[in-house]
Amino acid sequence: DERSYIMIKPDGVQRGLVGEIISRFEKRGFQLRALKIINVERSLAETHYSDLSSKPFFKDLVDYIISGPVVCMVWEGLNVVKIGRDMIGATKPEASAPGTIRGDFAIQVGRNVIHGSDTVENGQKEIALWFPEGIV
Ligand code: ATP
Ligand code: MG
Repeated sequence: DERSYIMIKPDGVQRGLVGEIISRFEKRGFQLRALKIINVERSLAETHYSDLSSKPFFKDLVDYIISGPVVCMVWEGLNVVKIGRDMIGATKPEASAPGTIRGDFAIQVGRNVIHGSDTVENGQKEIALWFPEGIV
């Protein structure tokens, strides 16, 4: 079945949104396949966002991701990559619709609570990157 790498960013963990976010994915009908809370090494954050390494906000983005614990998850189910992105909402909170996670819980693009894989292929790469130990 299709899988997506979903990560609750440090602001989401610090603000106590972990349960809310997991609940939304469970209620939608997806299955949780892996879950851990970790402090992220700078090199891992840089690799994860390497496509954005030329952006002016890249250092701030990496500093944000390593600023506190993140919750790393693998969710599985039909069209989980696309539906997960729709549940998360647009990158910029001013563009994310109410009812989406960012639309309900974020106001700053640099503190937008959650990551979700943008394609099935990137999902597979991200699961391998964040869960090198493997998953069930
Ligand atoms: P993510 O990959 O974290 O799920 P996304 O796919 O919606 O987010 P990307 O374009 O991949 O958006 O950007 C990755 C992250 O970089 C964004 O979630 C946001 O935290 C940060 N970011 C993107 N654009 C900006 C910007 N203009 N200024 C500051 N931070 C930004
Ligand atoms: Mg992205």
